[in-house]
Formats: sequence, C-alpha cells, structure tokens
Amino acid sequence: MPAAPAATAERPRTSRAPTPTPTPQRTPAPLGVRELLAQGRRTFSFEFFPPKTDAGERTLWAAVRRIEALAPSFVSVTYGAGGSSRSRTVEVTKRIAAETTLRPVAHLTAVGHSVAELRHIIGQYADAGIRDILALRGDPPGDPKGEWTRHADGLTHAHELVSLIRRLGDFTVGVAAFPERHPRSPSWTEDIRHFAAKCHAGADYAITQMFFHAEDYLRLRDRLLAVGCLTPIIPEIMPATDFRQIRRFAELSDARFPDALAQRLEAAKDDPAAGHRIGVEYATAMSERLLAEGAPGLHYITLNKSTATLEIHQNLNVSHDPATTITE
Ligand code: FAD
Repeated sequence: MPAAPAATAERPRTSRAPTPTPTPQRTPAPLGVRELLAQGRRTFSFEFFPPKTDAGERTLWAAVRRIEALAPSFVSVTYGAGGSSRSRTVEVTKRIAAETTLRPVAHLTAVGHSVAELRHIIGQYADAGIRDILALRGDPPGDPKGEWTRHADGLTHAHELVSLIRRLGDFTVGVAAFPERHPRSPSWTEDIRHFAAKCHAGADYAITQMFFHAEDYLRLRDRLLAVGCLTPIIPEIMPATDFRQIRRFAELSDARFPDALAQRLEAAKDDPAAGHRIGVEYATAMSERLLAEGAPGLHYITLNKSTATLEIHQNLNVSHDPATTITE
C-alpha cells in the first residue's frame, strides 16, 4: 500500500505569524487497480524484476524513483523462477510499498511451491499491506519450454491460485493473457476456455504477454467478448530497442516479431542510440493505436531501466488517472 501521508503538526496561531504556505504533498489515491478499471479509467503501469547484485539494486531504485514521479496507476515486480530471486521479489515489493508512493502488484507463480508455501507468501504480502497480486502458473524452472510438473502438494493451473488468493483475503487479482495464444494451448477454443476459468475464479483483470502486432491484442479481445468475457485486458508493451535482446525475448515468449522492425533494428545493431529511437518510435505508435482502440491501460516492461518507457510515456501525451494525486 502507498505510504500514509505524513501528519502535519498543528501550530498555535498568532496575529504576527505569517500564513503558512501549504506544502504540496503526495497522498495515496483511494482507488486501486480494480476500482480504476471498474470505473473505466485508464491505467498506466510499469514492470520491474528483482535484481541479483548491488549494482542491479541501485539501477532498479533509480528507475523506480524516476517512474514514481509519473504517479503511475501501479508498478509490478516479477516472481523469480526459483531460489533466492523469489525472496528478493517479496523484499523489493514490500520496500516499494513501505518507501514509495507507488502501488505495487506482486507477481506470484505456483511453480515449485506447496499450497502451504503459497499461503505463507500471500500472508507476508497481506501483513505488509500489499493487496494486489498477479496470479500465474509459472514455467518449469531451467527450461521454460520443458515439461510442466506440479509440486506434489501444489497447484496445477493459475485459476487455482486465483481461487486460493481470493479465499485468503480481499486482494485484487490479475492474471496473464496471451494475444498469440499460450504456446501450450492446443487450440484457441481451449485457450479462451481456460482464460475464462481464471476470470470465473475471481480475476479482476489481465495483463498480456508481450506482443508486437496490435491486431493480435484486438483479436484476443474479440474472442473473449464472443464468449461473454468482459475482464479488462491490459496490453503489455516491450520497447524493442536492442536487436539481440529482443530476439531472445521473442524466442522465449514465442512472440511474432515484425520483419520490418527486425530489419531496422538489425541495421542499427551497432548504433545503440539509433536502436533506441527505433524501439521508442514503434512502441509509441503501438501504444497510441491500442489506446485509440479502447485498451483499458498500458503496462510497460522496463527491464529496470526507465529511459525508453519515460520517452514513450512523454510521446503519448495522454492524460490518465494517476494512483496518487498532488493535494495541497
Ligand atoms: P495458466 O493459466 O495455468 O495456463 C497455462 C496453460 O495451461 C495454458 O496453455 C492454458 O490454456 C492451460 N490450462 C489452464 N487451465 C487448464 C485446465 N484446467 N486444463 C488444461 N489446461 C489448462 N512467469 C514467472 O515465472 N514469473 C513472473 O513474474 C511472470 N510474470 C508474467 C507476467 C505476465 C503479464 C505474463 C503474460 C506472463 C508472466 N509469466 C511469469 C509467465 C507465465 O508464468 C507463463 O507464461 C506460464 O506458462 C503461464 O502462466 P498462466 O498463469 O497463464 O498459466
């Protein structure tokens, strides 16, 4: 939860005392992700990952502070595939809640966890005042494309995690959506049916996998509308500024990468500034298109850097409903 506004000590009034100039201060808005979306208000949000090193930690916090100045609707922190990165997710998310005005959304995956462990993590978030969780199944550790194996005392699919979180308290729960279909879904019919199960289990909204063709998002939305699923689907935007990095991400996520964009980035692969410009320009155009088509918000992958996402946000020049407001 965003930090409470600092209490202001009352001073005795005298006739000679100058009228105090009100100090603008940030106060957390009463609206959470669920409420913003339910009211049809646009969200702008940013995704971070838990860093592994002290240098990575410094980079993350510099980006967090720059993004905090935009007063986004929320920020999310990804959940590691295993080991210590998982406790770092919990620590970073709790620190964002305690030390910034940002509203953190904690990613949580079922992979490798017993139900008792999942309950413990959800309890830690509740104790820290964090009420927003993105409920995911996760991929097999080591080889994300390998065989999925459920923990002996764990869960099999994300809809079960949504139900568990719902049973444990008043959380706002997000889930994953796949504009190009989950790579393991044998058909669109299956994919949509299982997505709808997450919504029936209590998901308030979804964030998509990264994608690079706006039409894929629009088709997913149409497919969901056709089965009566009205859950808000927030598109995830990955600024494609580095040819090598984006090729690796696209391979991992199975996202179709536009040939023309790939050619432009490849031509600029030894000129980082040019690659940056190309990526920002493409992501800006796609963001504009998605907003014009009625997307309920935009969620940006930052890779713990802020430059590209800040530029895109600036280029968009759109008003949004910030999670915090400046009051006097
Ligand atoms: P599910 O909804 O369980 O779906 C997985 C597959 O199972 C799909 O093919 C689905 O159709 C199928 N399925 C679902 N229910 C059933 C059923 N009852 N019977 C048969 N088949 C079924 N991973 C991380 O490790 N950490 C993160 O922080 C993280 N963040 C992410 C954020 C976003 C926005 C997205 C889109 C993905 C994220 N992922 C993360 C990756 C995610 O964990 C993987 O993509 C995973 O393979 C799918 O997760 P899911 O929650 O969609 O699973």
